[in-house]
This record gives sequence, C-alpha cells and structure tokens, in this order.
Amino acid sequence: MTVAESEAHRLDKADPGHRHLFHVPPADGGRYPEAAYLAGNSLGLQPRATRAELLADLDAWGRLGVEGHLEGQRPWLPYHELLTGPVARLVGARPTEAVVMNSLTVDLHLLMVSFYRPAGRRTRILIEDSAFPSDSYAVRSQARFHGLDPDATVLRLRPRPGEDALRTADVTDLLAAEGDTIALVLLGGVNYLTGELLDIPAITAAGRAAGAVVGWDLAHAAGNVPLALHDWGVDFAAWCSYKYLNSGPGALAGVFVHERHLGRADLPRFEGWWSTDAATRFEMTPTSRPPATVEAWQVSNPPILAMGPVRTSLELFDSIGMPALRERSLRLTGYLERLLDEVTADRPLTVVTPRDPARRGCQLSVRIGAGSAGELTKRLRHEHGVVADAREPDVVRFAPVPLYSTYHDCWRVADALAATVAEVTP
Ligand SMILES: *Cc1c(COP(=O)(O)O)cnc(C)c1O
Repeated sequence: MTVAESEAHRLDKADPGHRHLFHVPPADGGRYPEAAYLAGNSLGLQPRATRAELLADLDAWGRLGVEGHLEGQRPWLPYHELLTGPVARLVGARPTEAVVMNSLTVDLHLLMVSFYRPAGRRTRILIEDSAFPSDSYAVRSQARFHGLDPDATVLRLRPRPGEDALRTADVTDLLAAEGDTIALVLLGGVNYLTGELLDIPAITAAGRAAGAVVGWDLAHAAGNVPLALHDWGVDFAAWCSYKYLNSGPGALAGVFVHERHLGRADLPRFEGWWSTDAATRFEMTPTSRPPATVEAWQVSNPPILAMGPVRTSLELFDSIGMPALRERSLRLTGYLERLLDEVTADRPLTVVTPRDPARRGCQLSVRIGAGSAGELTKRLRHEHGVVADAREPDVVRFAPVPLYSTYHDCWRVADALAATVAEVTP
C-alpha cells in the first residue's frame, strides 16, 4: 500500500462525520482498539442516544400503566405521529404518504394486496435477478396467492452478459417491449449485492407509462441516498430500519404510498383497527372508516418499545439531513474506491459496484477470484478488526457509512485486503 495512513488521519480531521454519536464495537483482532465497521449496510450501529430514549418509554409504562396511552411525555396512541415528519422528509414524501409499521417483507405483502392486481394479459411481476431472496419469495408467493404459476409470472431481469450491473435502458427497453404483460415492477432501489443505485425516477416513469404499478424496495437506499418518492411519482415503497437507519436488529419498517392512491375506495386492503380513522377508532363500530392517508394501511397498534429506537434514529437523520450525508458519503466512498483500485490491481479482486458515483450509494462490493468470501471476511475480522459482510460464494461488501465511518476505516480495509489476499504475478 503506497497510500499513507497519515493521509487517512488528515482527512478524518478535516471531515470528521458523527462517529461520536455511536457505539463502535471493539476490534476482535488487529492493531487498533475499535473495529473498522463496514457492515452498516447489514446492521447499523447503535446511536448513543437510543438507550436513554428507550428507557424513558419503558419507564412510562412502569409509571403510568394503561394511562400511558394518553398521558406522559410521549403518549402511545399518537406515538407513530412523532415519526411521520422525519420519515417523510427522509424519503421525500408528504406527511400523509409515509408511516412506520411492521417489518419490511410483511409490508411488501400488505402493499401487494393493494397494488398487485393481475388481470387479463397483465399478470407479470418484474424483479431483478439479483433481488434479495425475501423479495423473490414474497413475489412468488403473491403469484401463487392469485392462482398463478410463479415461474411464468415472475420475470427476473439479468444484466447483459459479462456485466454486473443493470443499465437503465435494460429496464426501460423491457418495459417498452413487454410492459403490457407486466402488472407490477418491484425493484431494489440500491441492490443489496452489487450496491448499484438504479435510476428510480426514470424507471418509475417508464413503468407507469407502460401501465404497470411501480413499487420499490428501499432497504439499501433509505438513509443511504437522497430520495424524492413523491416527486418521482413512485406508487409505493417500503424499507427496513435496521440497516442504514440504525434502529436495531429486526427494527420496524417504513412504508410510502403515493398521494394519488390515498383515499381510493376501489383498492383492496387488509385492515385492522389501526386502519380506521383515529378520531373515531374508539367508537368501536363494526366497519372501518379508513383515513385518506397511508395510515389506512396500518393494521395493528404499533409496538411502542420498538418504535423508540426508530424515532431516535430518524431524529438524528432529520437534524443532519440527507444532502450533507450524501456529500460526505461521496467523499468517503470515493476515497475507498481509490484505495481499492490500488489493492485490486495485482490481486484476484474486482470491484463490481458501478464506478459512476451517481449509480451507487456508499457500498462497494468486491468479487474475489479465489477462495470463499466467508473465509476472507473471517480473516479480515480476526486478523485486522475489519468488519465486512460476505455474500457467498464470492462477494464481500464494504459500506463506509457517512454518519460514523472514517477515512481510517477505509484505509484499514485496503491495508487488510492487501495483507490477506496474495498478489498474483503475471
Ligand atoms: C434486508 C432486506 C430484506 C429483509 O427483510 P425483512 O422483512 O426485514 O426481514 C428484504 N429485502 C431487501 C432488499 C433487503 O435488503
């Protein structure tokens, strides 16, 4: 490695980020006390503020019992409304369009109940071939639910031969040619494996022009890249909060439904008592009166103790803002890319994430030419204190997270890869 460690330290002084607001795990091996944590795309680190905020909600329950629904600092009945403003701003939604509820795959199913309506020739669901498995299983089970053959119904889009990422034209050309058979487009905004950021506005426009409904899984996009879901005309979207949104393992998910669908009486929907208008909920009538907001998709009353960490994290994003985070993200990932260029030049390693910063978030995925990704990540962790994430058989993912990762973390990744993967001499 010719890039000096001192340069990383200098960059960290000039562009420090917000690491002090997070608990960083200790290193399990290597020369440094703290882990170089590059796995925030899998599970984000814990904000230091989360514990006290969570304990305050727990104490309210102890102190107030059932009265906590209406009393205390943060009454539980309207608790989810505390999250509405921050989550709406995070994804570029109107406050009526965004809500936090359930977990991601559950929400995708609830949304597909409303927005996957196969009819006539138009029955197919378009996903990417490298979709996260949960999404594949979800759409296949939706096809079966409608009495359709999943193999014939789910269309899996592959990159061109020899390419790792999709081109926008690969998607829009397909929509132009076969769009009249496609009922639903459901793609990952940022692909979990390659880190590719798709052109969400262009693909949304093409899908809608072809007559399809366009939904997005934003698990790897929310909190990673700026989003403008309302202005882009996205029909619906969902994302989890435990990756870039740092809300804890299995944390609740966010849901977006575009204004044009709010209040539509013709849409089928699975409902419960939280789907009815809050003002008349306790009249306990036998039929619901859904509000003309995304809250009509809520089913159950939310788990308050799980909402707390999401609220704490969303407030942090709200106070810093995605534009500033994206700026730092471009600098940090650009730096890691420069270091990886040097390390991969004479080793059996290839960065498969697009080189254009506009086509990716913070994650860089590296394909290894020999050995197992799992074995390599184990060595990185135990010999160098570098926490990355393996996707077998051959991809290792590194996500320098703009909130808490440092230039020195990036330097440690490159230094550890250089020490762990042998050079090949031509
Ligand atoms: C992380 C992730 C999931 C996980 O689904 P859960 O329902 O939260 O368990 C689903 N889809 C994508 C694209 C993901 O990245």
